[in-house]
Amino acid sequence: MESELIAKLIVISGPSGAGKGTLIKSVLPSLDNFVVSVSATTRGRRAGERQGVDYHFLSRREFLRKVEEGLFLEWAEYGGNLYGTPRDFVDAALSTGKDVLLEIELEGARQIVEHCPVAVGIFIAPPDLQILEGRLRDRKTDSEADITLRLARACDELEAVERDRAEGGLCFDYAIVNDDLEQASRELLTTIQQIRAGNTAR
Ligand code: 5GP
Repeated sequence: MESELIAKLIVISGPSGAGKGTLIKSVLPSLDNFVVSVSATTRGRRAGERQGVDYHFLSRREFLRKVEEGLFLEWAEYGGNLYGTPRDFVDAALSTGKDVLLEIELEGARQIVEHCPVAVGIFIAPPDLQILEGRLRDRKTDSEADITLRLARACDELEAVERDRAEGGLCFDYAIVNDDLEQASRELLTTIQQIRAGNTAR
């Protein structure tokens, strides 16, 4: 029964604007013994974002020093900014049996899902690119230039996932299309519960 104690690293990825953050917030109240990793980033702080809560906001220099010191489990560049998952936080949580949830972009998700045996990947897809564009505009957090970058990156990410699937790649174990928020939220919760109920790492 020892295998039941293996904590899971649940990696949620998908294009910016697909609704990853909203979906995660919607399922968290139904989950216990579970922590969400707070990433480091060099992106500027948006209105309402808190240091250490939404992100660890770092200068590029500080971030790159941590990269050199091997302090990130994964890291990637996105829209001209750097984002990374703190290794110590994830290791400490997993070693005490807590499941950890990461919300990260595709490049980082691939690094983790492909190399970490306790990681399970869930891809959140938008119904289509027009809806994604509408969501990015509606949330009013990004400049026009950022929206253009995020849409281009979304196309690349969706194509890459499609290519992986066609080639039999292993990256994501589950995919959820976030069309209707309530339904997608139910699907995410059920998926996480299934992953947690599985008693072996994949
Ligand atoms: P945003 O600027 O909208 O907060 O995030 C931009 C993208 O970076 C999103 O897709 C988000 O999931 C991703 N991201 C956030 N933290 C990390 C991280 O630690 N590593 C990686 N690879 N991506 C991250």
